[in-house]
Amino acid sequence: MNKLLFALLLAAQTTITPPDNKYSPADDVKLGLQAKAEAEQQLPIMRDDEVTSYVEGLGRRLVGVIPSNLRHPEFRYTFEVVNVREINAFALPGGPMFVNRGMIEAARTEGEVASVMAHELSHVVLRHGTAQASKATKYEIGQIAGAVIGAIIGGDLGSIVAQGTQFGLGAAFLRFSREYERQADIEGSHIMAAAGYDPREMANMFKTIAKQGGSGAPQWLSDHPDPGNREQYITREAQLLHVDNPVRDTRGFEQVRAHLKQLPPAPTTEQATKNAGRGGRPSGQSQPPPTGRVAPPSSQLKTYTEGDLFRVSVPSNWRELPGSSAVTFAPDGAYGQSNGQSVFTHGVELGATRNETHDLRTATDELIASLSSGNPNLSRPSGYENVSVARRKGLRTTMSNRSEVTGQPETIQVFTTLMRDGSVFYVIGVAPRDSFRDYQNTFQRIVGSIQLMD
Ligand SMILES: [Zn+2]
Repeated sequence: MNKLLFALLLAAQTTITPPDNKYSPADDVKLGLQAKAEAEQQLPIMRDDEVTSYVEGLGRRLVGVIPSNLRHPEFRYTFEVVNVREINAFALPGGPMFVNRGMIEAARTEGEVASVMAHELSHVVLRHGTAQASKATKYEIGQIAGAVIGAIIGGDLGSIVAQGTQFGLGAAFLRFSREYERQADIEGSHIMAAAGYDPREMANMFKTIAKQGGSGAPQWLSDHPDPGNREQYITREAQLLHVDNPVRDTRGFEQVRAHLKQLPPAPTTEQATKNAGRGGRPSGQSQPPPTGRVAPPSSQLKTYTEGDLFRVSVPSNWRELPGSSAVTFAPDGAYGQSNGQSVFTHGVELGATRNETHDLRTATDELIASLSSGNPNLSRPSGYENVSVARRKGLRTTMSNRSEVTGQPETIQVFTTLMRDGSVFYVIGVAPRDSFRDYQNTFQRIVGSIQLMD
């Protein structure tokens, strides 16, 4: 009887198996370092000894207790604090971690800060970024590292989405599936416990994040979607872990908080990246806003081949505007920058995004929800029509928006279909409402011309 009980207890702690990954740990390091260099260039990194050495110390404490089966000798763990107010943190493949000042300010205890860091660290040691990239399309993988920062600070060339779709390719390193989230929660709770923290603080931190009103709240959660019952399974795992004397001494934490209060308040990520004259784009090059004077679409088509992802034919008087996560085709006068964001008033954006559902309808809902979050004036979809997209079963929906450039109503048409690996391929057509009739056929021709090479 006793023996069986003992066996059950031993078996109780959840074992996490890292997902399949076609990259090597050395690839993680390489990709992570590229993205890290870009992050350091684009984001306001705090150069404040008191703050950075505190976070660094916490990080080292967690790294010191990574379970032996998840240690990767080539990984280099670094910890930096970003001076922005959004509640967020992210870690890159191979070890670089960035914690927003807003995250430290929102936490109520050191254990809560440690919990977010342990969660991020778990994504790194379980190699979730490259595991996720392993599932991405070929087109995505080539561009992932460079697109990471676009995904962090939002906005990329040609996107109609003011704050970035968060559907970009770079998001592969930053937005995780619910299963990876659950893994990072459980592994993170083990690391916390091994470092002497009560893993229940992780559940508390998620509550704190969810409760925080304002613009900062959803950011971490959109990158780390709640797998459901987060609080319950973390609490259950915590009971199995038996941390006898959890760290309660938070003097270091209190000191850092007091120190932060004396500094000028942290700007938003948007303010910070704008103030630095970098706009919202990785390349930082600035363009005038669209003039809105646009020639009608030529009836002649020109064919473009996009990597080994797809081929498409568009009016011959449209230009190709490659972006980090999508490609846009638009006529002269229809594209440019407005308020630091890339926008277009006429044309199409094409891209592919990962999705977890492998269900076209749900994936399209998610894509549109993501568009809406950056375009507050976007109407709800009128409903979905079954149409052929790239000669496959697809969906079309039509919405209205108000152009951020002209202030005039515009019509947005979204076409989606599934790729063989389950990713969603999308086409977003944009035209002013009063000339939409002239563009509708063009969008249809473009969508009909697409050949997916998956
Ligand atoms: Zn996560």
